[in-house]
Amino acid sequence: MKDCPIPEGYDAGRIRASLEAAFKERGYSGAVSSITAYGDQTQTPVHILQGLLSTGVSVAHIRSESTNYIMYRDIVEWRGQNPPPATMMIISDQVMGGDFSWDLARLQQRSQYNLFIARSKAHRFLSVLPTSAIWLWEKILEDSNNNGIEIISSPLAMVLCCKSCNFDCQSPKKFRKHLSSYKHARQESVCPQRTQINLVTETWGRNYAATPEYATAKILVWWNMFDCPIPEGYDAHRVRPSLEEAFKKLGYSGPVSITAYGDLNHTPEHLLRGLSSSGVGLAHTIFDVTYNRMYKDLLYGPASNSTPTNLMVIANADTLQAFSTSLVRQLQAQKHNLFLAYSSRPYKMFVMLPSAEWLWHSLLDVSEKTKYVLQKCTSESDRGGESSAMFYCKLCRDGPGPDYRSLDNLRTHLSSEEHAQKESGITAFFQLKMKNRNKSSLAQYDRKHRQQWRQASFFFI
Ligand SMILES: [Zn+2]
Ligand SMILES: [Zn+2]
Repeated sequence: MKDCPIPEGYDAGRIRASLEAAFKERGYSGAVSSITAYGDQTQTPVHILQGLLSTGVSVAHIRSESTNYIMYRDIVEWRGQNPPPATMMIISDQVMGGDFSWDLARLQQRSQYNLFIARSKAHRFLSVLPTSAIWLWEKILEDSNNNGIEIISSPLAMVLCCKSCNFDCQSPKKFRKHLSSYKHARQESVCPQRTQINLVTETWGRNYAATPEYATAKILVWWNMFDCPIPEGYDAHRVRPSLEEAFKKLGYSGPVSITAYGDLNHTPEHLLRGLSSSGVGLAHTIFDVTYNRMYKDLLYGPASNSTPTNLMVIANADTLQAFSTSLVRQLQAQKHNLFLAYSSRPYKMFVMLPSAEWLWHSLLDVSEKTKYVLQKCTSESDRGGESSAMFYCKLCRDGPGPDYRSLDNLRTHLSSEEHAQKESGITAFFQLKMKNRNKSSLAQYDRKHRQQWRQASFFFI
């Protein structure tokens, strides 16, 4: 009620009917099982309280600055008591880009509810939360006003509750009397409720054992070798078994497909042989386009269907932050499971909720202690060797592109005239872009400072 109040002159008794009409328009015809209105009720007139109660809306009083805290606490509690599938509607400005958004997006990735939102203003940015509908609060109320919906009294016993004192009653007069009592004022002053919401997912662990749905599902790995290179002196054959061993420890045994993105013209031959002979696919890119090519492959490649799949991205924290909004939406829409590995710990927690995350170097070290796995997994006859890997040039062809089938074929392509032209065209484009960016930064600096300089030098003359 703080973000989305009842408009002046609006009949509070219509609220439930308005919401049900909006749901009905989307094909949800069932009765709404419970509605609770949160806000500072000290100034809410008795007839509005009565109107809300009469159609089955419970009312909760909380001082204005603690409204978000109490409301979010109750949402989390409700989720705990009502496992999905279930539908929840949040009428607040805190969901899209507000106080609730980060934690709620992570909660939704663990257990997904059908989510409806109403808010006071429209925003243009892409939210991290996929929703079933987003409405403007006033529009819901207006529409129902125009459609002349029927108001039905609710037989449900609704309550008026003071969240500061844990006091509840069913009489609006008694409730107002409580809110203006000495005891209530003392309680709010001595033991005020918190103002910051409790981020419940902040303390969640980092690595979870596989759930049955994903334990044998395939594992697709996108690895940015610019961000997370093979450490100096490390045997490239060991990358795949190290990853497989880490997956196995958590109970994942599905087939693993790894694609390494890097500048293959500047990667030592023994590393390329080591990777490809152990079944790691290779994709040639240059630094400036790697993020773009990985992003496209991730969103539109083999993970773009809804067969349960484990996705893993190996990159630095900034790249992962940049991926996060789209990735979270994809994970929720297609119900995929996520693993991450990064070169150094991110400075803030991701909005993506991976089932497992590792530091790149410690992930590679896993196989140090388990050399027997290494021998088993890297034997070419076991793995199918190079024949199971794929070889792409991501500069000449975006998307899946032709598979060159062997390292030698790919190398022939990479040294061809056709490829050289394409690569130098892309490089020149990025150089020009950088030059223009520098130019515009200089011009911006000039606009800000030249006048000041002129005035200062005039003064000193
Ligand atoms: Zn109270
Ligand atoms: Zn090429």
